Amino acid sequence: MPKSDPSQTPMMRQYAGAKAEHPDCLLLFHMGDFYELFGEDAVTASRVLGLTLTSRDKGRGAQAIPMCGVPIHTVDGYIEKLVRAGFRVAVCDQVEDPAKAKGLVKRAVTRVISAGTILEDRLLDAGRNNYLAAVNHGQAGKGSNVIGLAYVDLSTGEFVLAELAPGELEEELARIRPAELIVAESRALEEEVPYSGRRSRKKSPPPPDAEREEPEPPAEPGPVVTTTPDWVFDYQTARQTLLDHFGVQTLEGFGCEQLTLAIGAGAAIIRYLGETQKTSLAHIGTIRTLDPGAFVSLDASTIRNLELIETARERKKAGSLLGVLDRTRTAMGARLLRRWVLRPLRRVAEIRRRQGAVAELSTDMLMRESVREALGGVQDIERLVARVATRRADARDLLALAHSLQQAPHIARILGLGAGAGADAAGETPPLLAEIAARLRQADEEGAASAWITEIVTTLCEDAPAALREGGLIRDGIHAELDRLRGVRAGGKGWIAALQKTEAERTGIPSLKIGYNRVFGYYIEITKTHQEKVPANYIRKQTLTNAERYITPELKEREEEVLGAEEKIVVLEYELFAALRERTAGHIDQAQAVASGLSELDVLASLADLAARNNYVCPDVDDSRAVDVTGGRHPTLETQLPRGEFVPNDLVLDAEQRQILLVTGPNMAGKSTYIRSAALWVLMAQMGSFVPADAARIGVADRVFTRVGAADDLGRGQSTFMVEMVETAYILNTVTDRSLVVLDEIGRGTSTFDGVAIAWAVVEFLHEHAGARARTLFATHYHELTELARALPRVETCNVAVREWQGEITFLHKIVPGATDRSYGVHVAKLAGVPREVVDRAWEVLEILEKKTDEPSGAVGQMAARARRRRQAVGQMVQLPLFGAAESEVVKALAGVDPSSLTPVEALKLLDELVQRAREERTEREGLGNE
Ligand code: ADP
Ligand code: MG
Repeated sequence: MPKSDPSQTPMMRQYAGAKAEHPDCLLLFHMGDFYELFGEDAVTASRVLGLTLTSRDKGRGAQAIPMCGVPIHTVDGYIEKLVRAGFRVAVCDQVEDPAKAKGLVKRAVTRVISAGTILEDRLLDAGRNNYLAAVNHGQAGKGSNVIGLAYVDLSTGEFVLAELAPGELEEELARIRPAELIVAESRALEEEVPYSGRRSRKKSPPPPDAEREEPEPPAEPGPVVTTTPDWVFDYQTARQTLLDHFGVQTLEGFGCEQLTLAIGAGAAIIRYLGETQKTSLAHIGTIRTLDPGAFVSLDASTIRNLELIETARERKKAGSLLGVLDRTRTAMGARLLRRWVLRPLRRVAEIRRRQGAVAELSTDMLMRESVREALGGVQDIERLVARVATRRADARDLLALAHSLQQAPHIARILGLGAGAGADAAGETPPLLAEIAARLRQADEEGAASAWITEIVTTLCEDAPAALREGGLIRDGIHAELDRLRGVRAGGKGWIAALQKTEAERTGIPSLKIGYNRVFGYYIEITKTHQEKVPANYIRKQTLTNAERYITPELKEREEEVLGAEEKIVVLEYELFAALRERTAGHIDQAQAVASGLSELDVLASLADLAARNNYVCPDVDDSRAVDVTGGRHPTLETQLPRGEFVPNDLVLDAEQRQILLVTGPNMAGKSTYIRSAALWVLMAQMGSFVPADAARIGVADRVFTRVGAADDLGRGQSTFMVEMVETAYILNTVTDRSLVVLDEIGRGTSTFDGVAIAWAVVEFLHEHAGARARTLFATHYHELTELARALPRVETCNVAVREWQGEITFLHKIVPGATDRSYGVHVAKLAGVPREVVDRAWEVLEILEKKTDEPSGAVGQMAARARRRRQAVGQMVQLPLFGAAESEVVKALAGVDPSSLTPVEALKLLDELVQRAREERTEREGLGNE
């Protein structure tokens, strides 16, 4: 649209002005009962929203402007769709009453909504934070190896700064999964991918399929990338931006004065919010700095493979660890628990602090139940506070906030009463609970400090409507003038109501009625049959089919009184409400402190409830390097199987004798379940949770790595052996002697000999490398690897027991010492329904193979020789009469098969092929014989 087209209407010039200020947004322009979009915006929106495209000034042919619109009362849903699709939306509202406007109604952009700046409850997921992040790489060539990160959840006020190494940054972003990411313009030009795994969505349509490197994984969409000028990150300006926002002289108090790169990133966020929100951001009242050393380091693959917050395949919370752990009663608690799951602690003292609280709450059922019940009455204080701060709260929000805060002192009293069964030896409340109770008492009704909470409840009508300009907000007896106006209104209405009776009597028309409509106001209605009785002072206003409507001067006088009062009441109520909201905004700190106490308590009570119901035990957490678990269960699988069907297992790992545990066993035996459980026990323990076991001692881990061989990785659409090796390389380069490494069938993605060789070398490295010596669990079906146990002192083997009886096998899911001597591939083939003669023949073949290869060997260096011998044996096999033919194709094919690496379905397919070929060969042979 040409910008200063003289033929434009004044309104379209107004539009063009607003659009010019927000060129990167879709602009929604308030017109009457609609928000309209014009030009390119309209074309885009009609495509994304499926709206009909019309045009403005149709008569002008080529100059007609494309246009589409959405009704005001459903605009939220449309904004949601646009924001989810990665667009930024600017809302341009009428900012004065059209009835009072002289000439063109004033309009202004009141806010810009993008994925990272959502405040609407219905656009937000209650159970997780919605982060806007900014990354500051600093000036190129400065050679520093840290990156500044800042992130905010606008809907709760959480604001975090950190300086991280590139690997740490990647992990942090995998944890918080920002919805929107701010980067410097120069960075965006370089097309730097801010972190792997998630790609940003651009405003342009996706490239045609042919250009895509790989099919879109079922991943959630990456962050929307927003660029900002480079200077925004400059330290001096940036620091000033933060000082101004927080109203302080120094950042010392937040402990981040020295984080120069993070300050740049933080300023980019504050500036961006200032430009887009156009309101107070008082709820962003403090800076938290992130100490990466305080938490277990978890990379994206580990989070996914262990299904910590969602299942790998379907990306659902149900079925994940979080799904089992989450018994929280509030949205705040649910969000905090999610953060805890992704951030297990490293410091023993902090872990024990949480454990103390969980122990108390799990033992004292009465306390736990009372706390949980009271928490049921607590709403999302964090997000309510954010709406108060940004002046978007309505009367219902204030009431919800007040009622929720009123639960706090009540809950604090329950905590004080505890000190029963679960208290420590001295009978004291566990320190963390005592500290939480102190935070909650800040909202004590008796304290003068919380008079503002009481004021909300006593001022606002309990059934206040969501609308703020229709009255019905403020109770009687709060404001003298309001009461007087209401009296006037009531008096007028009463007089009018009484009029019906007196006039009916006076005129002798029993059916005389007083009515009201928006156009004529109050009127007297008389049916046509009584027209001759209408008094002379009635003035006719409207004629209906059966009746006439009249007014009288007195009626109009009263009407003006009523309507005048009504209008004043509405205005006054809104003013009183706005003032109350303003006062409430002055107590944000207090509300946030209470919210933090309630959410933490909610999480602790949730962990306690789970522990009590599912018979978890409090792990003994220390700085040793032991993992010693008796009767351990897998937290999620346990709940999915019928009660009692999960087979518990023990685990002992330590640095001295059992550093590396090789777990062997046939397909479906339970290897993966076992080794993942181990990682989950360690992580749960470090979150402060109890663990599903009879007894547990856990030496804290600094990192937990989980890798799943490409062939077994369910969650990845297209995994390659390369990815598997890249990830393995990452572990080997970052692992420390405090880490826990869980490897599931690493090496399976390539041919058998390669696979064994790589797996072998990895285990050796973890055993021998000076900085390594990490506790390791390695599940493998390559039983060749168990040779390692003989060669390396700290490698132990175990296997999953299988009962074999009359050629049938049952999986016992029980971990027993020692290696498996066989892979049970033939058993599995039998279970899969492979015909009897083939299974029998396979037994014969297997026997021959095993005789040829099962000579004792032990040294690492003998592996190759062993492999050679095996190949020779296979070579000899070809000489054996199989299906009666010496040079049979079938034999050749069979010789190349590794039964242990076949899934039942693959085995079936292979068999089908072999039988087919055998039949063909036989036909061929018979044909030859006949010649
Ligand atoms: P593997 O990795 O050895 O092929 P999995 O660990 O994937 O085997 O387990 C296969 C199946 O066996 C699981 O889906 C589960 O249903 C069952 N299972 C595994 N461990 C147990 C156990 N300890 N108790 C009961 N069932 C188990
Ligand atoms: Mg497995």
